Amino acid sequence: MDGPPGGSTPITPVIKAGWLDKNPPQGSYIYQKRWVRLDTDHLRYFDSNKDAYSKRFISVACISHVAAIGDQKFEVITNNRTFAFRAESDVERKEWMQALQQAMAEQRARARLSSAYLLGVPGSEQPDRAGSLELRGFKNKLYVAVVGDKVQLYKNLEEYHLGIGITFIDMSVGNVKEVDRRSFDLTTPYRIFSFSADSELEKEQWLEAMQGAIAEALSTSEVAERIWAAAPNRFCADCGAPQPDWASINLCVVICKRCAGEHRGLGAGVSKVRSLKMDRKVWTETLIELFLQLGNGAGNRFWAANVPPSEALQPSSSPSTRRCHLEAKYREGKYRRYHPLFGNQEELDKALCAAVTTTDLAETQALLGCGAGINCFSGDPEAPTPLALAEQAGQTLQMEFLRNNRTTEVPRLDSMKPLEKHYSVVLPTVSHSGFLYKTASAGKLLQDRRAREEFSRRWCVLGDGVLSYFENERAVTPNGEIRASEIVCLAVPPPDTHGFEHTFEVYTEGERLYLFGLESAEQAHEWVKCIAKAFVPPLAEDLLARDFERLGRLPYKAGLSLQRAQEGWFSLSGSELRAVFPDGPCEEPLQLRKLQELSIQGDSENQVLVLVERRRTLYIQGERRLDFMGWLGAIQKAAASMGDTLSEQQLGDSDIPVIVYRCVDYITQCGLTSEGIYRKCGQTSKTQRLLESLRQDARSVHLKEGEQHVDDVSSALKRFLRDLPDGLFTRAQRLTWLEASEIEDEEEKVSRYRELLVRLPPVNRATVKALISHLYCVQCFSDTNQMNVHNLAIVFGPTLFQTDGQDYKAGRVVEDLINHYVVVFSVDEEELRKQREEITAIVKMRVAGTASGTQHAGDFICTVYLEEKKAETEQHIKIPASMTAEELTLEILDRRNVGIREKDYWTCFEVNEREEAERPLHFAEKVLPILHGLGTDSHLVVKKHQAMEAMLLYLASRVGDTKHGMMKFREDRSLLGLGLPSGGFHDRYFILNSSCLRLYKEVRSHRPEKEWPVKSLKVYLGVKKKLRPPTCWGFTVVHETEKHEKQQWYLCCDTQMELREWFATFLFVQHDGLVWPSEPSRVSRAVPEVRLGSVSLIPLRGSENEMRRSVAAFTADPLSLLRNV
Ligand SMILES: [Zn+2]
Repeated sequence: MDGPPGGSTPITPVIKAGWLDKNPPQGSYIYQKRWVRLDTDHLRYFDSNKDAYSKRFISVACISHVAAIGDQKFEVITNNRTFAFRAESDVERKEWMQALQQAMAEQRARARLSSAYLLGVPGSEQPDRAGSLELRGFKNKLYVAVVGDKVQLYKNLEEYHLGIGITFIDMSVGNVKEVDRRSFDLTTPYRIFSFSADSELEKEQWLEAMQGAIAEALSTSEVAERIWAAAPNRFCADCGAPQPDWASINLCVVICKRCAGEHRGLGAGVSKVRSLKMDRKVWTETLIELFLQLGNGAGNRFWAANVPPSEALQPSSSPSTRRCHLEAKYREGKYRRYHPLFGNQEELDKALCAAVTTTDLAETQALLGCGAGINCFSGDPEAPTPLALAEQAGQTLQMEFLRNNRTTEVPRLDSMKPLEKHYSVVLPTVSHSGFLYKTASAGKLLQDRRAREEFSRRWCVLGDGVLSYFENERAVTPNGEIRASEIVCLAVPPPDTHGFEHTFEVYTEGERLYLFGLESAEQAHEWVKCIAKAFVPPLAEDLLARDFERLGRLPYKAGLSLQRAQEGWFSLSGSELRAVFPDGPCEEPLQLRKLQELSIQGDSENQVLVLVERRRTLYIQGERRLDFMGWLGAIQKAAASMGDTLSEQQLGDSDIPVIVYRCVDYITQCGLTSEGIYRKCGQTSKTQRLLESLRQDARSVHLKEGEQHVDDVSSALKRFLRDLPDGLFTRAQRLTWLEASEIEDEEEKVSRYRELLVRLPPVNRATVKALISHLYCVQCFSDTNQMNVHNLAIVFGPTLFQTDGQDYKAGRVVEDLINHYVVVFSVDEEELRKQREEITAIVKMRVAGTASGTQHAGDFICTVYLEEKKAETEQHIKIPASMTAEELTLEILDRRNVGIREKDYWTCFEVNEREEAERPLHFAEKVLPILHGLGTDSHLVVKKHQAMEAMLLYLASRVGDTKHGMMKFREDRSLLGLGLPSGGFHDRYFILNSSCLRLYKEVRSHRPEKEWPVKSLKVYLGVKKKLRPPTCWGFTVVHETEKHEKQQWYLCCDTQMELREWFATFLFVQHDGLVWPSEPSRVSRAVPEVRLGSVSLIPLRGSENEMRRSVAAFTADPLSLLRNV
């Protein structure tokens, strides 16, 4: 151990230390050698210089006199005790006496500044706790005081008052531990003090007080020392207690712990309380400087200019006296020095604008305290506010002062309206207080119910951007704090989730979850509202307009900004997810139940929640695990069907419940010709199971032929409709529908149905239409399925109206609706034609399929266009899993009766409208996987591949199977390939061989910068024009990683020929040299009778000319284009 252990802290440096002989007690003449140490506050003596704890200490403030008494001896005299010491020499004695006298003088000088001195309580710092305790090793109980960061031991109460003690323990090295019911240990590295209290309760109180002392000791006192450098700051601005280590940063005064407690009670609108020792971050150089310049001196010259002696505070004043005084002083401004301009708002404002440009901080303080408007208009548009003026003038201290007082209320005397006084609650921007029940914070989601016993009652104060919780309403130091800026999410579990009826969860950046509970719904609601207001920035305050189950910020990617995640604000209420993005307009809420996709991607470390709505995709990133998991669960839950009514189901695009859509779609594809469809019943157990899974998450159920029997599906649909608590036609309106069926005049009846239809809730209306439309299709095939309109009506009447089948009216309504389907639902002809065509195609294919015995499970019907995308060219076709692009192409040409001539390179293209790019499918490629990956803005077109001949020629004539050369390159990295890349095109050197495409910075580079496995690349012709490709001969390379992440590169060639060569090489290496099927299979086809006009350009968005260049340049040369027009 180096140096003297224990006790010496930076605040109390040792003035003098050394060996002295001390006379023993009771006047014995045998002197004992003692190690004696003097610091500013105490004279102590120890058995040896190795000891940490003294045998005795004498408070310097209690020493009345020091006198020499011969024989190198001197006496230290206190009120009623004298201590005699003997030095080794006269010089030594003189030095000791001088040191003591100087310490006493300094002590007195300090005390004089304190009003405590006037009261004759020298050096008294109010203890946090004092009383008798047993200490092992001592016969009698000791008197123990916890003062600041020290635990002081006295022989008894009398000595405590005399300021003469045994020793004190600096709690910076202390630790307290419970031992048993009444005992506890105070352990230090040098010694263990074993105490016993009189009762368990007392033991608890001692533990708490000592823990407080530890906290205080560990807090840094550097700020305090600097602020105390200004003499008035060494004593509480309000009561005069010494060494005040709290402050009000807006009032700019230093105060003691007791006054700080009352300041806090005034609310942050009056006083913003901070600790000099604990709120380390608050104390910037500027703020410290401000306290040195203003501080207690200037503060009291203004705030305490007229305090009547009867109303003055003392360090020992009672809490209620303190509260009254502080209310009068700061909230009412009762004692303030009135500014000469008081009452003249305009002049006050003017004066403030002038003052802030000077160094006269006291004037600013006085003006603000007398009502000058902190946000008044200065008249100068360049610097419209006092703050702006101060900034312009370079007055940083003025700026700091103004900033801290932004939300300070102007004091006002309430003497005129005494009744109001007690009810005027200070509500600055957000402040709230009250008792809350709180559990210990958790590091993971709360899966199970928290019992009532797990909550503890805490006094909670929200104010000034901090939610603090205290042991009770009297406590000064909070048990803990949550800074609003650290709150990332606020969630409100459903009532009765935990032992308290109403609860809310607060998630912090540090991945902690705090659970609070309350009995009263209103109080819980109020707390949630206040906390939300405290942590949501103005930008997202729209989210506060309605109630929410969850609110917070999350990193996201969306829209055009997929490059890097940004932080957005989200709120979830019901199945609506609202979002506010920092740089976007307020978006429409996402309807979670209408999502097309809801999935989690990425690994467990780096999860991304993907939400796909019709036109939007949103990625929410799980950077912080805890709140992300909370959101994940909540969003998944909200996206599921919520309840029993139709509109509470997962909904499809056109507001039809996914569950209905799935079944209808399946029957359309597989059951239209099934005999007795809808009349026959499925197997009860299978139907039941299917319905259950559909109810749980219809979006994820994919019905497959072979796995599900049509009758099971039809029964599930009927059961679902029959069990709807409110029914498809709603309970309220059911009767009017039945009555309508009795109207005799047909026309009148139909118009009545139309009327009633409008009255249905939107989801019900859409569902009725979809269902009747479906039944209309079913009856079209009554020849095979035996289900004519009447039969369907018999089945569906009771199902939809939930009757027992006796009431013929229900059936009649259904019959009428099917018969008058076109009129009742205003179906336009085009729609009807399309629908007929589609089902005809389906049935035809099914018939063909059964005939040839090649029925495949999971067949998919899709629309393919011939030559270009328009209504007349669309063709519905069923795609079996085995179908290749070649087969599809031939099938379409066949259906459209298009003959194939020599050198007609008919090919199926995957056209991506948004990317303004297209990809000719390789003839052997399977179509089904492509269809599944096709975005909504992509489609398939069968047309001639104009460049194929040139490519085949090139491939036949070249040497080797690699290609290299310069191209212009641009990169795009983003999830799923959405969004725009940054940066432009740059010249790069490429080498393409049978395994890889390699990119080099330049021709001479040795190492490739990038390298892609060629077989996993998809090459599209064309580059979206937004990227401003430098030439019109560009292509887009898409690489899908194993994690289904799409990366895109854009490459541009200088000439059309080059583009064709690169593309041909890609085809060649990707398909092992098989670029085109052998001719005979095609030529054998019929010679054309009718031709469908010429080759046309793919209809793409944007300016036609540009697209012509970027896409068409490849497929056709200008001359052939002209010829075809
Ligand atoms: Zn005080």
